[in-house]
Amino acid sequence: MKAEILRLLKESSSYISGQQLCDHFQVSRTAVWKVMEQLKKEGYIIEAVRNKGYRLLDSPDVMSKAEVESLIDTEWAGRDVVYYDVTDSTNIQAKAEGEKGATHGTLFVADRQSAGKGRRGRSWESPSGDSISMTILLRPDFAPTKAPMLTLVMALSVAEGICDILPVETKIKWPNDIVLNNKKICGILTEMSTEIDYINYVVIGVGINVNQEHFPEEIRDTATSLKNETGKSVKRGEIIAAVMARFEQYYEEFTRTGNLSTLRDAYEAHLVNKDRNVRVLDPAGAYEAHAKGINDTGELIVKLADGTERDVYAGEVSVRGIYGYV
Ligand code: ATP
Repeated sequence: MKAEILRLLKESSSYISGQQLCDHFQVSRTAVWKVMEQLKKEGYIIEAVRNKGYRLLDSPDVMSKAEVESLIDTEWAGRDVVYYDVTDSTNIQAKAEGEKGATHGTLFVADRQSAGKGRRGRSWESPSGDSISMTILLRPDFAPTKAPMLTLVMALSVAEGICDILPVETKIKWPNDIVLNNKKICGILTEMSTEIDYINYVVIGVGINVNQEHFPEEIRDTATSLKNETGKSVKRGEIIAAVMARFEQYYEEFTRTGNLSTLRDAYEAHLVNKDRNVRVLDPAGAYEAHAKGINDTGELIVKLADGTERDVYAGEVSVRGIYGYV
């Protein structure tokens, strides 16, 4: 009821009467009043005027189940939100709940992660109050071999979702980092539980730097936040909702075609490496090449100095610019 009341307040430009809310939710006036008091405690500025009702004057960048649910407007992506003030990692929680039967589309969101993870066991910084840490759980009915493509579907969703809210030009560093002005604002980590021929569940974790102004020494040169690049504080809930809306749209497109063929143009429009020289950090040996774009299954097509082409599979590989991170 709290999320629904919040949604109604947000959607209405005028007052909503207490009686209207009582009738709508079939509850007492006291119950409605209690929800308003809770919301005020969380930082929402709500005006209550006798004979008129309630009106939302301002909402802060709070993260809560009600806030996120009140903003998400999708059929299934993020319709169910599990929220933590602090947790080890939203991917860890999503996997645990996946084992217990959590449904397709459930979104796990934390204000802070104490053990955020990147690819290949690397760590991800996700401080309290300023960043987004979220993981969506999926139960696809396609073959496990297709799951790595979901990382690119999410990268596109984050890149587009941010542009839906802010006047910025997001780029994607293949396969799954989102960059703004050549610095990383988002990392994505996809993990799954499978049998030989079917997927039990996939979890896609997304960490977005939103309102941080400072970063630890080790990542200061390569990391940035939406606030640092736009000069303005951004409401995390709005970004989460925009990314979920895009993800639902692109996931459905992906499952319809079974590959990235219809998303490829949109992905490449954001691809920072496209038509640039890159350094492919392959565990079998690093090499330089010219990146042309991606193929229908999300591999990076590169041209080597001798003119031959190669499709690079993301698995164990990282890509850098010739002179730096991109
Ligand atoms: P690449 O493929 O470029 O090597 P990656 O995409 O595999 O990188 P991830 O696993 O997504 O990297 O992220 C982990 C790395 O990101 C860490 O090793 C660290 O350098 C960096 N990092 C950690 N926290 C943040 C953050 N909040 N913002 C930007 N970068 C971060």
